[in-house]
Order: sequence, then structure tokens, then C-alpha cells
Amino acid sequence: MTYETIIGLEIHVQLATKSKMFCSCAVEDGAAPNTNVCPICMGHPGTLPVPNAQAIQLGLMAALALGCEIPEYSKFDRKNYFYPDLPKGYQISQYDQPLAKGGTVTIVIDGKEKKIRFNRLHLEEDAAKNTHPEQASYSLVDFNRAGTPLAEIVSEPDLRSPAEARMLLQQLQTLLRYTGASNADMEKGQMRCDANVSTRCVETGESTKISEIKNLNSFRSVERALTYETARQQQIIADKKLAENVKETRGWDDAKGETYGQRNKEEANDYRYFPEPDLPPLHMTVAVVDAARHALPELPDAKRIRFMDEYGLSADDALRLVGDRALAAYYEAVVSELAAWFESEKITPASHRKIYKLASNYILAELLKHLKNNKESVAQLKITPENYAEFIKIVHKGEISSSAAQMVLDVMYQEGKDPSDIIREKDLAQVSDASALAELVAAVIAKNPSVVAEFKGGKANALQFLVGQVMKESKGKANPQLVAGILTEKLQ
Ligand code: ZN
Ligand code: MN
Repeated sequence: MTYETIIGLEIHVQLATKSKMFCSCAVEDGAAPNTNVCPICMGHPGTLPVPNAQAIQLGLMAALALGCEIPEYSKFDRKNYFYPDLPKGYQISQYDQPLAKGGTVTIVIDGKEKKIRFNRLHLEEDAAKNTHPEQASYSLVDFNRAGTPLAEIVSEPDLRSPAEARMLLQQLQTLLRYTGASNADMEKGQMRCDANVSTRCVETGESTKISEIKNLNSFRSVERALTYETARQQQIIADKKLAENVKETRGWDDAKGETYGQRNKEEANDYRYFPEPDLPPLHMTVAVVDAARHALPELPDAKRIRFMDEYGLSADDALRLVGDRALAAYYEAVVSELAAWFESEKITPASHRKIYKLASNYILAELLKHLKNNKESVAQLKITPENYAEFIKIVHKGEISSSAAQMVLDVMYQEGKDPSDIIREKDLAQVSDASALAELVAAVIAKNPSVVAEFKGGKANALQFLVGQVMKESKGKANPQLVAGILTEKLQ
């Protein structure tokens, strides 16, 4: 049987405001519990909400970055439910007239682009945070989070695999960080994901009901939970148990690696939505929308395409560079150094893209590894773009071997030094002087008569052994192409 997985995501992102959605309490990471609270966000009777202009502006920027359409009017509604984390007994959200509609994000899967559509983006306030101490007979509520501004972004069910879902979230995180709308750090709960998943049997057309998996709080758990749930749903179809299958909300147990049934899923009318009487509709004039649009930087998708066009990078490499705004800026600073060098030394255009690619390769393969191992960010990098560009020139010209290049980059990473100084101090320059190499070659030939005889007898790979011996004698500094040439010449 062939199965198709259909996934849609609902993503809550915390907007990067200084204060809450409807009161002036601070939004602060790591504050002592219940210190950033007031009568409004505690839901005291007689208080009135006042919308936060910065939250609306950031929500608008995020929506424009997704390519959403912005209706002229949107409104707030009350979503009613009863839970200890909701002091008013309702959440102020947006129901039938959201801030923004539509939009898309392009993901890249195996080098191929795929557009994922969005249904909407709306504004709402966050609930408080419940904690359930182990073994305790009580729960704790921290109201600092109550009233924090959120944008809820709802995708269309366009995703077809757990890997696509993860990629969409990563793209969305990048996009939100570019716009400054949210830090979107999943570990800090600034981006939280609920996933709707169902499975269809292609041959019979049978389909499971939708499971909504709640509160996935890392990229990894999104992918794992969806992989588990997909397999579970396929089994339901295979076992012919569709009659018992219900639409439900499921939790994710990260330690056990499985989803579990929580409750049957609510329908919208269970929430008794009605317009928020204390807030007027939001009016998004053309001027307001244009101002937000002009405030946007170059977005990751446009940057990725430009990197591919201008620097000849592959889709995957461009995507990785663009994934971190600071890394993309670093790469472009390096590129401008290299461009100045092309100009001054009349480097032929045919080599430009090869060198841009070399610069990208060492960043993606080596620099990122160093950053990861040291748990550092691009901002902490000691290597200036000038020095990094200098390093790329040296590698391109073949002045050091590839193993020496790694060593040089290592020292540059630790100490931020100029690569030429490191090469001089450590005596790493590749020996390309033919007469010096000829001496080494002669010595190796004299020491290995049997291998030389094998080569002359037609065993071609004996040459590789001899090249290796010369490299060893030179302590890795000989230029291997030159050595092979000199050896071949001497043996014929
Ligand atoms: Zn407050
Ligand atoms: Mn919501």
C-alpha cells in the first residue's frame, strides 16, 4: 500500500515587544514568577485593554514578509474556555477577520523548491504558564506570560512529510528573525508548534481523521512526533480500524518518543467566539501598510536567489548561508573583499565564481563546525572578513596544502590572526620550487628501488606511493601536483 501524509501547522510566535499586548507590563525573559503583572493581564473586573502599537507593527511586518494580503479592517474576538492559566476566562484573539490572509514560504527539499501556502496570520494574547511540580498535589501558575503578544500563523495542509514540516519551521524562524518580528527561539518557547496530521491510502482512498499534536517545542520533536504519528495512522488503515478512529488532540512524550490521546478535538463553536466589545476594529490604512513594507530588509528568499545568481552557489549552500542573517552578511563582506582583489589583480571572470564557491565551502564546512564546537555565534567570530578573504586567496593560489589550510584556519579561529603571518610563523608554505622538490624526488627514488622497478614494469599506482613518500619527506609542504610531474619525468 502507498500512503500519503497530509500535514498543516499552526505556529504561535511571541512578538518581540517590550510590553504586553493589552497592558504596559514588561515582557521579560527569566523574571521572577508573577512580578510582571497588573489588573489588566490578571483579568480583574472593570479593567480595559489597550492594544500595543508595536505588536501590531511587528505582526504586520511578519505578515508582509510571508506575502500575506492585509485586509483594511480586522477585529478582535473573545475565545472562551476555562483553564487556570486564563484569568479572564477568555483569550483575546482574532476569529473571522484576522490581521492577514494567505501568504507563502518556499522550502528547499533535496535541492528542489516547493511553495507552502498559509491560510492566515492573526494577533492574540498568550495565556499564563502552568507548572506541575513532580509528586506535588498542586500546580503553580506564573502570570508573567499572560497577555504576551503572539502572532498565530496557520499553514494550509500543503506539507507531505515530517522533514518538510521541519524545513518550513526553520524557514519561518529565519524569516521572523530577519524581520525582527520575533526571536522565534523554540527552546525559549518563543515559537511553538501544533501540527495537524492525517494519512490517506492512495490505492483505496481511505483516510484517517486528523490528529492535532500539541506543544511541539523543538525542530527535532516536530519531526519525531510527526514520524511517529504518521506510522501510527498508517497502521490504523492497515489494521482496518478506521471505524474507531476519531479526530483528537494528542500530546507528545519526548522521552518515550510517542504521541498519546488527550481529548477529542474541540470545534470552533465550543469556544463561543464573539467580537471583543472593549476594542475597536483595527484599521490598516495604505500608509500604515506601506510604512511597514518599507521597513522590511531584504528577505531570505530573495537573498538566497541572489546568492545563487550572483555568486553561483547551489540552492542548498545558499540556503545554509542565508539561514543566519549575520552569517549571510559576513559572507557578503568577504565577497566584497574578494571583488576588490579581482579588480586590483585582474583575476579573470571565469575564476570569480570558483573563488566565491571556495569561500562559501570553507565557511559551511569549517567555520560553522568551529562555531558549533565552541558554541559561539557569528558575532563572536575573531576572523575579520579581510583576513578570511586573504585566506581564500592563499588557498586558491595553492600556496598551502589542504591540510595546512585547515591548520591555518584553526589558528585564525582561535587567535584571529592574519593567515600570512600564521603561515610564516609555522613555516607552512607549500614548496613549489622545482629545484628543491627535485632533490627530494631524487632521494626518494634512490631509497625505493623496488617500487621504482614496479612502476617501470607498468604498475601505475606505484607512482602514488612515491608521491606519498616525497610528501612525507617534505612534512606535507610539497606541492603534490608538481611532485607527481617531476617524478614521472625522472622515471621515464
Ligand atoms: Zn499587565
Ligand atoms: Mn492561538
